[in-house]
Amino acid sequence: METFEFHYGQLQSTVAKHLPGADTALIDQAVEYARNKHKEQKRKDGSPYIIHPLAVAKVVAEMGLDLDAVLGALLHDCIEDTDASHEEIERLFGQTVAELVEGVTKLTRANFSSTEQAQMENLRKMFMAMSKDIRVVLIKIADRLHNMRTMQYQTPAKQVSKCRETMDIYAPLAHRLGMQKIKWELEDIALRYLEPEEYDGIMSYLRAHKEQDEAFMHTIQDTIAQRLDSVDIHHTAYGRIKHVYSIFRKMRAQDKSLDELYDVYAFRVIVDTIPDCYNVLGHIHDLFNLVPGRFKDYISTPKPNMYQSLHTTVIGTQGIPFEVQIRTWEMHEVAEYGVAAHWKYKQGTGEGNEKDFEWVRRLLESQQDTDAEDYVQSLKIDMFDDEVFVFTPKGRIVSLPAGSTPIDFAYAIHSGVGNSMIGAKVNNRITTIDATLKNGDIIEVLTSKNAKGPSRDWLNICKSNQARTKIKQWFKKEKREENVLHGRASFEAEMRRMGLPLSLTIEPELGPQLLKKLSFDTWEDMYAAIGYGGLTAVKAVGRIRDDINRALKNQQSDKQMTPSVLRNVGDPEAGKANRHAVNGIIVEDIDSCMIKFAKCCTPVPGDGIIGFITKGFGVSIHRIDCPNTANRHEPIQAARWVNVRWANQDSQPFDTTLELECVTRDGLLLDVATIMTSNRIRTKELNGKDLPGGKSVFTVRFEVKDVDELESIRNKLMAIPDVISSRRGQN
Ligand code: MN
Repeated sequence: METFEFHYGQLQSTVAKHLPGADTALIDQAVEYARNKHKEQKRKDGSPYIIHPLAVAKVVAEMGLDLDAVLGALLHDCIEDTDASHEEIERLFGQTVAELVEGVTKLTRANFSSTEQAQMENLRKMFMAMSKDIRVVLIKIADRLHNMRTMQYQTPAKQVSKCRETMDIYAPLAHRLGMQKIKWELEDIALRYLEPEEYDGIMSYLRAHKEQDEAFMHTIQDTIAQRLDSVDIHHTAYGRIKHVYSIFRKMRAQDKSLDELYDVYAFRVIVDTIPDCYNVLGHIHDLFNLVPGRFKDYISTPKPNMYQSLHTTVIGTQGIPFEVQIRTWEMHEVAEYGVAAHWKYKQGTGEGNEKDFEWVRRLLESQQDTDAEDYVQSLKIDMFDDEVFVFTPKGRIVSLPAGSTPIDFAYAIHSGVGNSMIGAKVNNRITTIDATLKNGDIIEVLTSKNAKGPSRDWLNICKSNQARTKIKQWFKKEKREENVLHGRASFEAEMRRMGLPLSLTIEPELGPQLLKKLSFDTWEDMYAAIGYGGLTAVKAVGRIRDDINRALKNQQSDKQMTPSVLRNVGDPEAGKANRHAVNGIIVEDIDSCMIKFAKCCTPVPGDGIIGFITKGFGVSIHRIDCPNTANRHEPIQAARWVNVRWANQDSQPFDTTLELECVTRDGLLLDVATIMTSNRIRTKELNGKDLPGGKSVFTVRFEVKDVDELESIRNKLMAIPDVISSRRGQN
């Protein structure tokens, strides 16, 4: 039986039936090519390998797919198993066929087995995402079907693992694509190897009751046929026992033996038109007693996988319940072959050019999501290409929005991982945390207990809302002081941009009124909200602009009004808008003085700062945490320390220094330099010196525009292997 000639003949007659007019010479050529390429190979049962592609091509032809798909099926194992190349197949059979074969090969090489049930959904999605052409998936399903049909020649271990994979990936896929017939066959074969005892139990029960079942089904069938003939409805009616796996599942779910099981019989009535379907339904309900609550109209609301039929359950004369499915021939075709049937239909109407998911997607979109059990949502996602699937080092799949970065990945794992992230490896190579992830990448997040937490520019880098929300949460919680500072700076900048005087916000009456309008108790709270991104400065100012303008008008018309600047003398908040910034710094109470930045702590915008009035050199700006500011509360010194703040964000760059403590190794200096240049940081000085104990310290002096950029570059430097710690320089 298992001869080349037999299978070739089978394929030829199937093609003649389903693809009349197809170029059979091309099929003969592909058969000859594949036979020649596989000639050294044997199937597990000893038969020539070519039998397998012939059988797969037959299944593909039965599905109603086109000639390219049949050729693709014939050649589907050539690239993987023989010396055939993409180029050669393209030259001989065209680009489409070569791409189909390439696509199937890719799926063959990917490993879709997983032990984690929770991962199955993602595996299925990845399977779909990897196949650019729906025909690739269909050929792969046909391939699996034939391998399942010949499963008896495999080792028991292989049988179990392949059947598991079939249950997890292929049967659900066939279901989603609406290919009921193939889905059932896959499930029944898999059950036979996965639950042999239960399978045998059901089979022997069915065998023992065969005569009884058949007699029953004949009676019902005759009853239905007589009635429909008498009213002249052209139809085909037949009964069947539901497939083994669905019986098995019902027994499990309802914890019942076969004897007790409800509806194992299903009758099908196939008619020509939709009105006939409803007519037949009426006759069925007239002939038998209806089981309440079991009628389903999948004609008016099709299942998301395109399935359409009327379902009802009734009780026959012997008190045995059975299901009746009523459908048209077209619905029947779709129920059996799903997507492939639609494919065929499309081809027939001459609109067969949309050979991609776009077409399937639209088809599915037009379906109503009627059943929570169904998968239209996830299927849509597959089609949209808007997800990327990556792995943890342990093989867990994580799905992220397309364009995601290691930051998104880290926060998808856990916010703790994201917050302590200092770098990432993609496919075992150190990468920047803003790299774009690709399907199948393996991501390892490098974390450190000493990590300083996310930096603000991560909010612009990450793609997932999840990461963005978690980063904002962190800033909200951990960085109040910094948030207040940041928020205040952007609020004041926006006020200036709108030409509104800041002084009004602290007027005794207007101030609280504005705060109320903003729904905050204190200005600090409001600044903090802007700082962590809960509110934008533009929005905040927009909310109070009218009130301020109204107050300004009143002031102008009120001649008695003391100028607010004067009235607020001595108040540190007063008159801010009038102060001039020098080198990006505003010194409170002093206008236009000389400013220099202390060498000891090299502050950058965003740092908390304080000024020291020097003798003859103006005001020297220190970081508030600089050791040299420790004496500022001493009575003698206190008068020389003044409050200062950053004028705005977009000032010229600032020098700063980082000291990196490292484990000494070759190439470290180069690694540091690479990070600096690849991030376009102007480096002014970079040197290293060895410390005792195999350690060294690198000093990098460079330009940044603010503390965010500084933190971002610091995180990148910390991601270099062997860098242990970093600190802001004290020259
Ligand atoms: Mn194969």
